Amino acid sequence: MSTTIAIIGGGFSGTMVAAHLLRKATFPLDIKLIERRPAIGKGVAYGTKYICHLLNVPAAKMSAFPDDPEHFLRWVQKEEISRGNLVPSGVQPNTFVPRQIYGKYIQAVLDEAEIAGKENVRLERIKNEAVSILPDGNGATISLSTGQNLRVNKVVLALGNFPPSDPFVQDKSFYTSLRYVSYPWSAQALSDLEQDDAVLLIGSGLTMLDLAVALKEQGHAGAIHVVSRHGLLPYPHKFTKPYPTFLNVETAPKNIRALVKLVRQEVKNAIAQDCDWRAVLDSLRPITQQLWQQLPLKEQRRFLRHVRIYWEVHRHRVSPGVANTVSEMLHSGQMVVHAGRIQGYDEDDRAVDVSLRKRKISHKNYAGEESGNTSEHEVVRVQRVINCTGTECDYRKFGHPLIQNLRSHGFIRSDALAIGLDVAPNGALLDVDGMVSQILYTLGPPRQGRLWETTAVPEIRVQAAALAEELLGMKV
Ligand SMILES: Cc1cc2nc3c(=O)[nH]c(=O)nc-3n(C[C@H](O)[C@H](O)[C@H](O)COP(=O)(O)OP(=O)(O)OC[C@H]3O[C@@H](n4cnc5c(N)ncnc54)[C@H](O)[C@@H]3O)c2cc1C
Repeated sequence: MSTTIAIIGGGFSGTMVAAHLLRKATFPLDIKLIERRPAIGKGVAYGTKYICHLLNVPAAKMSAFPDDPEHFLRWVQKEEISRGNLVPSGVQPNTFVPRQIYGKYIQAVLDEAEIAGKENVRLERIKNEAVSILPDGNGATISLSTGQNLRVNKVVLALGNFPPSDPFVQDKSFYTSLRYVSYPWSAQALSDLEQDDAVLLIGSGLTMLDLAVALKEQGHAGAIHVVSRHGLLPYPHKFTKPYPTFLNVETAPKNIRALVKLVRQEVKNAIAQDCDWRAVLDSLRPITQQLWQQLPLKEQRRFLRHVRIYWEVHRHRVSPGVANTVSEMLHSGQMVVHAGRIQGYDEDDRAVDVSLRKRKISHKNYAGEESGNTSEHEVVRVQRVINCTGTECDYRKFGHPLIQNLRSHGFIRSDALAIGLDVAPNGALLDVDGMVSQILYTLGPPRQGRLWETTAVPEIRVQAAALAEELLGMKV
């Protein structure tokens, strides 16, 4: 008899689990890959229509397979031979390739695995939305939005990135306005704008940069206001020589203040040796998950409260090309970054006045621009407001029927920090009583509470390979 594994979500995470199952299964297996979007393999990150949206990791580090680090580089260079240059100077190991191309790569990986798979290992791509899962002793029943039910043995929740929550204001009525875009990755986020319209982007991280360069690509000439609590922008990548590991996981401090102090000291040492701070942070990447896991909960909370914002802009860096475009926008005055909070909106039939309460500190961002304060209050008048505050990770806030259904039946629970789902080391989900599921598994962004570093390709590709082996009952 054949085993059936359902994967809900066909972004990078779900697609890679499917590809590994196809490659590794040695017994009759039906894989059902359920994705509500038209295209499998792309997800939010690689389904963009803008060519200016580049990977924020160089090509040599974006292989889908942890045991074959140059797989993507080889694929993309082969594509160039058959199609001509995909980027003006050709793809080199350090090139930041357009994310669209990466989406095609993931699709090619899946197609190849399907073609090479054994005859009794089948993949069914289902374009539909899962709205409920009812696990029982032998498996689970998945209901789809079209009313169809699927009976399966195991389920992988590869649901990925959820839309941002609306920023807090007392009067939320503006959030129903047509001038407000709550989902920054929607195809309509930048449509129907007049060339000179003023736009406010809420948030100053990678999503904001995506929107800013897309505005530039479509020839937008109007003012672009950016507001975030600290007004900090992600730093650009810079290629530097690697820095040796300086922290030992066993002996590293178990409190965040001491850890930050050590890292700062190491950055000073590195600079004294003519090495860039980026190399120091990168040297932590292989042990970040272990460092995180050995911090007590209160120290993890302290990190989220006090350090996270600085970690995000230093660790989640942007390609130099995108950074240059944004620097030009800042220098020309087209983009203005405000450090502060939104207090409220006052909309009329031509625009919306957004009241900002600004912070008293100021920062210089990488373009040398000051963000922060000359006055405490400011009103910016814009034609569109786009929420770029980043993905919401608190599963208690999600209105999606699948999540509500799983939560209300107690089949899943948030992790202690409410930044993902509670999950066992093998990826199995924990129910409301802390029991480890034999049926439900997850990977990628929902594992954030457990691993912290889990949202990018280099971590997810490892999880996808391990989870496929786990599901197939192979020793990991
Ligand atoms: C804009 C953006 C850019 C990024 N760029 C990079 C990068 O350059 N390099 C890097 O390493 N990482 C990058 N990341 C990190 C990114 O999280 C991972 O690379 C990866 O794409 C995450 O894949 P995922 O499959 O877990 O999530 P997602 O890509 O979000 O995919 C989840 C999929 O599940 C589907 N889904 C959800 N619920 C249901 C349901 N109920 N039924 C059916 N389908 C459902 C969604 O439609 C979606 O397609 C980026 C992230 C974002 C948001």
